Amino acid sequence: MKRMFSKRAREAKASEVRELLKLTDNNDIIAFGGGLPAQEAFPVEEMIEVCKDILVAHGTKAMQYATTEGNNEIRGLMQEIMKEKGITAEIENILVTSGSQQGLDLTAKVFIEEGDKVICEKPTYMAAINAFKPFSPQFLEVEMEEDGITLEDLEALLQQNPDAKFIYTIPDFQNPTGRSMSLGKRKKLVHIANKYDILIIEDNPYSELRFSGETSPPIKSFDTEGRVIYLSTFSKIVCPGFRIGWVCGEKEIINKYGLLKQGTDLHTNIFSQLQILYFFKTYDIKQRINKVREIYKKKRDVMIETIEKEFPKEVEFTRPMGGMFVWVTLPEDMEAKKLLEKAITQGVAFVPGEAFYASSEVKNTLRLNFSGLEEDKIQIGIRRLAEVIKNEM
Ligand code: PMP
Repeated sequence: MKRMFSKRAREAKASEVRELLKLTDNNDIIAFGGGLPAQEAFPVEEMIEVCKDILVAHGTKAMQYATTEGNNEIRGLMQEIMKEKGITAEIENILVTSGSQQGLDLTAKVFIEEGDKVICEKPTYMAAINAFKPFSPQFLEVEMEEDGITLEDLEALLQQNPDAKFIYTIPDFQNPTGRSMSLGKRKKLVHIANKYDILIIEDNPYSELRFSGETSPPIKSFDTEGRVIYLSTFSKIVCPGFRIGWVCGEKEIINKYGLLKQGTDLHTNIFSQLQILYFFKTYDIKQRINKVREIYKKKRDVMIETIEKEFPKEVEFTRPMGGMFVWVTLPEDMEAKKLLEKAITQGVAFVPGEAFYASSEVKNTLRLNFSGLEEDKIQIGIRRLAEVIKNEM
């Protein structure tokens, strides 16, 4: 069978970490490893009504094949959402995708040839690495500071690698670190991209999930040369299971994304698109976002307060002002993967940070998710984890 597989398939392997995390799928373990949005915020009752309304209004149209680009009304909703953030787009600049994860997959298909240089944050979103990897790019990592990517390092890298194709960045409440890029850096990043003639892939699923501090406009809002491709999603403000996201960019680029999307799924689930559309026709989007923020803020507060109280001083952690994750840096000689094995025996789990590095090996970091767990579980889980860390020191 082996010889039948493509190089891509041969090289696709489940990570050790993923295998370990499978063990945590049991009720006795408090799992900070997942990246699940808070399910108590999912609008179940509202969606029951919405589904009926759609079928009454559209009948078979909600069940028929639809256009690759996506339903025009929902593209209009996406246009409105971006306009509020300072991004001016026409409908033709928008492609509806099956989650923003598909936007990442299409990004790889549209731009990456074997050996192409792709710049990403260190660390970065694991599933973006997984989306790009089958196309065999060369990953170049740039260190991050509390306010986002280190621009001096980026420029130095671009001077050495003027042929790099794109910079992939998650500017708001980054997955995995929870860090956000400052306003100044967003503007400078566009300036640097213009100077070195490189594209920016702005993956922005979390910007609405801000519960403290000042909002910064997306990088795309400073784009003067059509070189920023903006990805977003309804996964975090409504629910991820419907798989509705979008890509916004120059028409020439969006056209290519659309052509390659056809071979993947013809179009994004039309019933799901209508569910999101009708939900926001009936219910207030701002109220909705405020409700989600409130829930997330409480969970973040509980996690940070408990960490502050329980973790040894040698352990560093981020204090995100939004999003779903806290990033922990252990003392240098401590290995997060080994710690996970012990943590599981004590009824708590997390994701070791190593999976979030595209090309380097860093062993002493880990990611904690706070959105998917109840507040009392967060408290208990952090206490358990603190004990495991203390025992290792
Ligand atoms: N980008 C980032 C940074 C994410 O954290 C996620 C979700 N974990 C996605 C993209 C994909 O989101 P979705 O496909 O649900 O829109």
